[in-house]
Amino acid sequence: MTFQFPAALTIAGSDPSGGAGIQMDLKTFAKTGVWGMAVITALTAQNAAQVTGSWPMDPEMVREQIIAVLEDLTPGAIKTGMLANTEIIKAVEETVPKDVPLVIDPVMISTSGYRLLNDDAICDICERLIPLAHLITPNIPEAEIISQMKIASDEDVILAGSKIMDLGAKQVLIKGGHGKGDDAIDYLIMKEGNISFRHTRLPYDVHGSGCCLSAAITGYIAQGFDDISCCKKAKDLVTFGIRHAYEGKNKHKMINP
Ligand code: PLP
Repeated sequence: MTFQFPAALTIAGSDPSGGAGIQMDLKTFAKTGVWGMAVITALTAQNAAQVTGSWPMDPEMVREQIIAVLEDLTPGAIKTGMLANTEIIKAVEETVPKDVPLVIDPVMISTSGYRLLNDDAICDICERLIPLAHLITPNIPEAEIISQMKIASDEDVILAGSKIMDLGAKQVLIKGGHGKGDDAIDYLIMKEGNISFRHTRLPYDVHGSGCCLSAAITGYIAQGFDDISCCKKAKDLVTFGIRHAYEGKNKHKMINP
């Protein structure tokens, strides 16, 4: 039987607690209705409260995983998450197909404060991957680093988004989860204009929401939905997941889409 199911690929780090990283991406892909594939870039030791260790893969292992998957299956969309260092970013740049929509979640630091991307690799995300991006999904602190400007207002969000498009991204979704208002507002910045997605902010942080959002968008793109619908449906799925968050023994919550 030939492979007919819409498929999506994540290239990301492992979170053994299942709350973020490839484990969350695969659960989210399943929820959106696509066949999930996963290339591992790094192992981590972590739970919802803290990351205690991180071991990047040999870049050759990343390269070979991507080549092997693509030899057999064609994803309708690909996402990247934790990429750890310059060598892994180069391996991804060289092997991802340029005709498949690429969603970049520019993971830098975990909510618990652990560095998931080397400082000196931020410029490689900007120079090597952003020009390939169909969509990039930074939170406000990540958008500030990539656009090299402070974001203090809605106008700043739009300006930062257009600076990130100048680096080559086709579209930018800046996530407002780190903001402070009653509503969490995400801004989708596109050449044709900008759209915002608003949801009531829930009074707690959850682990894994960024991974879940970018994976959901990727899953919906793989099924052929238009970009605005993908972002809207993904935001709804994340909001549901935050409302139904799991809580571990240490009282930290993780998204449950
Ligand atoms: N661990 C891995 C492997 C991740 O990819 C991410 C986020 O993308 C995180 C941890 C951080 O998750 P959070 O900041 O939601 O706690």
